[in-house]
Amino acid sequence: MAKIIDGKKISQQMKDELKEKAERLKEKGKTGALAVIQVGQDPASSVYVRNKKNACAYIGIESLAYELPEETTEEELLKLIDELNGKEQVKGILVQLPLPKHICEDKVIRAISPKKDVDGFHPQSVGAMTIGEPGFLPCTPAGIIQLLKRSDVEIGGKHCVIIGRSNIVGKPMAILMLRENATVTVTHSKTKNLKEICRQADILIVAMGKPQFIGAEYVKEGAVVIDVGIHRDENNKLCGDVKFAEAEPLASAITPVPGGVGPMTIAMLMNNCVQSIEEE
Ligand code: NAP
Repeated sequence: MAKIIDGKKISQQMKDELKEKAERLKEKGKTGALAVIQVGQDPASSVYVRNKKNACAYIGIESLAYELPEETTEEELLKLIDELNGKEQVKGILVQLPLPKHICEDKVIRAISPKKDVDGFHPQSVGAMTIGEPGFLPCTPAGIIQLLKRSDVEIGGKHCVIIGRSNIVGKPMAILMLRENATVTVTHSKTKNLKEICRQADILIVAMGKPQFIGAEYVKEGAVVIDVGIHRDENNKLCGDVKFAEAEPLASAITPVPGGVGPMTIAMLMNNCVQSIEEE
């Protein structure tokens, strides 16, 4: 029987710590707001944005909501970001992705001042993370590191296999696991022998975006399995990239979906906001 890694509980612990820290900063006169920009009304994005605003309210950080219509032009969005970059009280700027197709995400990410890049997606933040300099870490991979550490999973010297090489999960995950002294293998859709490679993993991190793809044949006995995927199954129930019922009996520890990685992403966003207020 695997230990179930409780992301909800761990994220709550983190949020409580951050709430206390934000209060201490307020006593020293350090406050700030997170600007959350949403373009269009994608229902999934609206849920994420609402959760982020609620987390700010819980921690005691002001949130400024910018709900822009779908037809907002790239120029208008860049102008808003420029204004927010110049506002002293705004300590973090978050643009909810994905953006409508007529807006270039890359340009938007680069427009955010690296000092306010609480999502950690700006190339300067990515570069700093890669060479181990201070900066904002991307929330999902940094949240996974917290999940592992706070669940007493040893990382140093372990073989970590990551499925997925996206800029927001797979690649930064590899860098952060390297920083924790894991031996890292990154796999992707062109990888040959995926099963064999996965079966060598002490820590298997699955971020492939394929509902319930990873079954027992990918999991070594005693492995720690982290499921990043979020999907709705045919019954509209949330599920991950991993077949939980198959992987759980083999794993020593495993994250559920929901209640695993998801809540940690928001906790890390709050961590980055508090860090930004502290560093002003
Ligand atoms: P993505 O950009 O679609 O990347 C998926 C990666 O998986 C790609 O690198 C792709 O390889 C690889 N892949 C796809 N099929 C594969 C296969 N059959 N074998 C091996 N590799 C394969 O997705 P993402 O943004 O990283 O997100 C991954 C999942 O995590 C999604 O379900 C997303 O919803 C979820 N997510 C959750 C959170 C959270 O807070 N819990 C945050 C972010 C994302 P190629 O590069 O070769 O195409």
